[in-house]
Amino acid sequence: MRRANETSIFTEMTELAHRTGAVNLGQGVPDLDSPPELLAGVAEAVLAGRNQYPPAAGHPTLRAAVADHQRRHWGIELDPSTQVLVTTGATEALASAVLALTSPGDEIVAFDPCYDAYPADARLSGATLVPVPLAVEGDGFALDADALRAALGPRTRLLILNTPHNPTGKLFTRDELAVIAELCVERELTVLTDEVYEHLVYDGARHVPIATLPGMAERTLTVSSAGKTFSVTGWKVGWISGPAELVAAVASVKQWLTYASGTPYQEAIAGALGTVDTWAAQLRTTLTEGRDLLAAGLTEAGLTPLRADAGYFLQADVRPWGYTEGLALCRRLPELAGVVAIPTSAFQQGVDTMPWLVRFSFCRRHDALREAVTRVTAAF
Ligand code: PMP
Ligand code: GLN
Repeated sequence: MRRANETSIFTEMTELAHRTGAVNLGQGVPDLDSPPELLAGVAEAVLAGRNQYPPAAGHPTLRAAVADHQRRHWGIELDPSTQVLVTTGATEALASAVLALTSPGDEIVAFDPCYDAYPADARLSGATLVPVPLAVEGDGFALDADALRAALGPRTRLLILNTPHNPTGKLFTRDELAVIAELCVERELTVLTDEVYEHLVYDGARHVPIATLPGMAERTLTVSSAGKTFSVTGWKVGWISGPAELVAAVASVKQWLTYASGTPYQEAIAGALGTVDTWAAQLRTTLTEGRDLLAAGLTEAGLTPLRADAGYFLQADVRPWGYTEGLALCRRLPELAGVVAIPTSAFQQGVDTMPWLVRFSFCRRHDALREAVTRVTAAF
């Protein structure tokens, strides 16, 4: 029997939060507002009876909106009819791509720590995930180019990149991406890049899609999702784009997983993507304030959070709280402080270079973050 994973850490910690009534800073599940016209758009489509299967490749308006978004924001030109595929969340895009592009015996290189779907997808496909540890440098994470070079071998079929990065909050810099791109071109590797946090980048920094680097458009599949951009993670609408032949390969798997999903959601998201700029600016402000509030609170409670340039998450070394293992702390944190967080080791593939790091999510309303801060400062 081929098994992907035992229970995910998100399931374990979310159950713990529900059972104990703790403030949940574990799973990256936002409780923030969504654009009202997006919500109304779904209701309108449902009531108008647009409730049957969309085309398997996605609603044509959403495919066009994704192509338009990629051109407007990043200067990437795509033909929506052959180069964009709508999926059931980024999760299905990632799984379909890994299943389409790798076989048993192949190796997939990914930076470590990494989002837990990547090793699970590799296991589903029978491929081996080769982790490349990110280096902790100063107050953040950095590419270790030598470690990447050493990880690439004759069996490497795919490199999975995630920028902005979960769980670290790292934004890969243009220089780091240039190193990765050069190696991928040299070795003729395909890149699967997960950019679901593309709009959640703080302090004036800018996200760079790796597909925009020289030689990369023809070898890169780019994944994103409406979940983070519009705070609608339960809708599970994502997309993948890139060279037509790669997108066709992904579509050939995707059709047997879900075939298609969420017609009214797809329609409404197509409309909202057109005006995402104004919306995302507002969301960035909320998230920056939330990040700063949580970072200040954790500092007050004796920790030194690492820098989070982007995304939903802050990392902190919990040794000042007397724990050398994040997992041990996270299992006790609800009882000690009424807060749930996720050990960063849950995102590591046997590398475990930083067992004392814990991931705290700040995609929550500020009153919830303040409550969490009050609780941890009282407890530690
Ligand atoms: N990739 C990353 C890095 C994520 O953090 C998430 C969020 N859960 C996903 C993919 C999955 O996105 P979706 O909910 O659209 O499937
Ligand atoms: N992306 C979310 C996180 O990292 C979790 C999604 C899930 O539960 N699979 O917290």
